[in-house]
Amino acid sequence: MAVSRAMHPEKLLNACALKGLHVLGTGDALHPAWQEEWKPFLSNSQGICVIPTGEIEDDHRVHHLILAEDFGQFDQLRDLLSQNSRSIGTNGRPHVFLSGEAIAQRVHEVGALIGPAHAFTPWTALFAYHDSVAGCYGKESINFMELGLSADSSYGAGIPDLSDVPFLTNSDAHSPLPEKIGREFNKIQVSGNLTPRNLLNCISAGTITMNAGFFPEEGKYNRTACVRCFTQYSVEDAGRYNWRCPADNGLIKKGVYDRARELSHGTPRQRPPYLHLIPLGQIIQTIEGVSSPQTKKCREIYNEFITTFGNEIDILISTPLSEIRMVHNGVADAIAALRENHVILHPGGGGKYGTFSLL
Ligand SMILES: [Zn+2]
Repeated sequence: MAVSRAMHPEKLLNACALKGLHVLGTGDALHPAWQEEWKPFLSNSQGICVIPTGEIEDDHRVHHLILAEDFGQFDQLRDLLSQNSRSIGTNGRPHVFLSGEAIAQRVHEVGALIGPAHAFTPWTALFAYHDSVAGCYGKESINFMELGLSADSSYGAGIPDLSDVPFLTNSDAHSPLPEKIGREFNKIQVSGNLTPRNLLNCISAGTITMNAGFFPEEGKYNRTACVRCFTQYSVEDAGRYNWRCPADNGLIKKGVYDRARELSHGTPRQRPPYLHLIPLGQIIQTIEGVSSPQTKKCREIYNEFITTFGNEIDILISTPLSEIRMVHNGVADAIAALRENHVILHPGGGGKYGTFSLL
């Protein structure tokens, strides 16, 4: 449900190689059939470290992200939660009739990690329903927090509750297209071999050296806006209208930008650098002035870049502009603008992604 039909381990692994990613979360690891699909690919020819991951929805509709060392931990977790869920073996992201605290206890019991998924999203997320971490997790600790596409580290840096919590920037991709997978990623310092156990240890220890992803304004819930017509409002105006859009009576959803500001107090804590990126496919689409990165022309240009330079992240971050220029002049100008932060953002809100133009 809710994902592309093309979601298959082999396609996902190939997409990781194109992007330049070395680690991939499986998603939906509680689902027995999805586990079976993954098992032949846990060690793979692309050399990618596969981490079993999954989401659970709790009794307040908060989504939790779980990272485990192996599928066995998810099997144990499924057993522990089965009497509190009607959808645990059948739904990729099951609903469990337990509090965040009770779920976190069980996750820790099996040796896995837990943190809020897309924490700032105005629904099905921690800060949609709770003003504090303890409000959801009680006495249980969280091992990380996933920021979500509409936030960057600065949104959480001033929230006192989060001062010791590492931030993760994950894509939550529902499709293996290169504009979706790896649109956000983490750079993590790993001591020893790249294994799921080592990686989990590094995440809890907070050895994340860089977060990368969307400009938060690109996210679809960045600003406070009507979910029907996407008109954006200030929090004051939204309150005056009782959170109903005067144009069409649609629900006005508080944006991540406003939510983070109201939760932040005091001096923001220092966080690893956050690199704002735009997927190469979207850059090519913008330069070509077409409606999708999937047009034949855009795909041809994208493929030429990958054939020439190996992977997308290198192209966006480190390939010399003079070399990029030899493949495509306009794209070189755009990547130069991105690297210099010369980007004009038109923030998203109410469920509509933001857009950008490059100077
Ligand atoms: Zn409206």
